[in-house]
Amino acid sequence: MQPYYFQNIMLKGKKGIIFGIANDHSIAWGISKKLSEYGAELALTYQNDTLLKRIKPLSKEINSKLLIECDFSQSNSIKKCFDDLNQEWNNIDFVVHAAAFSNKDELNGRYIDTSLSNFINTLNISCYSFTEISKLASSMMNNGGSLLTLSFYGANKVMPNYNVMGVAKAALEMSVKYLSVDLGKNNIRVNAISAGPMRTIAGAAIAKAREVYKYTEKNSPLHRNVRLDELGNTALYFVSDLSKAVSGEIHYVDCGFNIIGMSQY
Ligand code: NAD
Repeated sequence: MQPYYFQNIMLKGKKGIIFGIANDHSIAWGISKKLSEYGAELALTYQNDTLLKRIKPLSKEINSKLLIECDFSQSNSIKKCFDDLNQEWNNIDFVVHAAAFSNKDELNGRYIDTSLSNFINTLNISCYSFTEISKLASSMMNNGGSLLTLSFYGANKVMPNYNVMGVAKAALEMSVKYLSVDLGKNNIRVNAISAGPMRTIAGAAIAKAREVYKYTEKNSPLHRNVRLDELGNTALYFVSDLSKAVSGEIHYVDCGFNIIGMSQY
């Protein structure tokens, strides 16, 4: 394939931190690869030592030298992550937050059965983490910047078994809007990509994910599901100057599925 004109230079000199790589199927990996191809320098975070083993070879592929531990469920982990980052870099231009978690047992069956402990944990890891990250990252964005997170259609409409994760994503999407107002005066933009279903570890945790995948493939206007590199392309738009006047946006990248009211079949 011919390289695009701006490949290698579009994000030259830009630095960013990525949360959420578990393996080479992760949305965060698809985004990292694309941003690196376009010249960005990336710091990658890993949740624990088991994941570090998988992330290390990936980091070499994109020449990323900074690997920082960050487990949102541990108190002070996000703060420590930014302290570590600040030791190496005094400025960042963007953040990609592509991480979420809920107990698999409650991504199955009825929302009404959600336990308080899993409700709090899901909201903490999948939503509040982005607020805390935004606060710490914005203090390192000396020339403005871009904060990007990942959402799903289940934030707005009821999807089978998505349950408390839908509630967390609704809160996350609203956080994007409040954060965009808080940080707009510093020329920091805050947006979310609402991705179509993907075959990742997190995606597979939702009961009957395969059926959702097949249903959206059949019923989306483009008659397929989104690919990892296409999410990377959209992230490239959001972290670069191409989207300089865009903030507080929830942008669907789902082959058009969200506009469908009823199956055509
Ligand atoms: P993934 O399993 O590859 O990535 C999820 C990441 O979350 C992992 O890297 C994991 O380490 C991280 N994570 C979980 N708990 C954490 C914690 N306590 N601290 C720090 N990190 C933690 O799955 P993915 O599908 O690439 O998910 C990335 C994002 O995209 C998530 O926000 C997910 O909700 C969202 N999303 C996924 C889909 C889908 O169908 N897979 C669709 C739309 C949005």
